[in-house]
Amino acid sequence: MAACVALACATASGPGPDLATGPETWANPLAELTRIVGRENVERGDELLALFQERGLAPQVQEFRTEATEGNPSQVGRNLIVTIGDGPRDIVVGAHYDAVRLPDGTVVGGAVDNGAASVVLTRVAETLGRHELEHRVRVVLFDLEESGLLGSRAYVEDAEPDRIAAMVNVDVVVGEGTLMYGPTSHEGNEAVYRSVRFACAASEITCMGFPRYPPSDDRSFQAAGIPVVSLAMNDAAASHQMWLALNAGAESGLRENFVPEVFRIIHSSRDTIEHVSEAAMNHLHDLIVALVLELDRSL
Ligand SMILES: [Zn+2]
Repeated sequence: MAACVALACATASGPGPDLATGPETWANPLAELTRIVGRENVERGDELLALFQERGLAPQVQEFRTEATEGNPSQVGRNLIVTIGDGPRDIVVGAHYDAVRLPDGTVVGGAVDNGAASVVLTRVAETLGRHELEHRVRVVLFDLEESGLLGSRAYVEDAEPDRIAAMVNVDVVVGEGTLMYGPTSHEGNEAVYRSVRFACAASEITCMGFPRYPPSDDRSFQAAGIPVVSLAMNDAAASHQMWLALNAGAESGLRENFVPEVFRIIHSSRDTIEHVSEAAMNHLHDLIVALVLELDRSL
């Protein structure tokens, strides 16, 4: 009986209500995504700045210059940074907003990779602003990921790595229903993965851990010894196929030369808004908010 009373107390004052993350359902995320799809990277950055501002947020712009190499002139990149709270340590939540340029000079749509997650993070920043946080949370939209993780590298170079408790990267929204996360083979990320599994349960989203996982901006933080996780939203069948293709080797059971659907969409003219759903963006938002609140509580 006494245990029940204690449990009731814990439920009333514990993290439970915080994990019910949703404010109201996000009415029309695809309309917001339309504003950046198919645009040049500078315009994508401008629109995302405007989206943050429309949500009442004032992003800081970190400009950085990249080194010129043969055949690749130096360029200026812009990371967009929203800071929430003022705790002694940081949780960084990031997504790259730049899109790949094809050999013919055109920029791909960049809805799947990685416009949808960028728009989701503008909303995540807005939602987190309504919470009391122990950490300082930085929501960062990185530039020039597709040119070699340049935006995230510039961010880490400017930051105090010891201050960053964890980094959550979000790259690719294609399909809906399964959250893919990794790379679970890398040591040092256990506490972050535990929080991912907790957030998945709280958000009622199926999550799949990938020992080997495609690199993204998380690797810039991992290289500095910061615990990381990289996330993507996919549908169930395609997630299983991708897991097998990346992790099962010759035993995968997939036909020879099988290429997971996502790799036939991204970095091509097929990266269009048709592959992104309102439900996927809403669920990703809820999951990321739940994850950040859990990390904020547990780290
Ligand atoms: Zn990407």
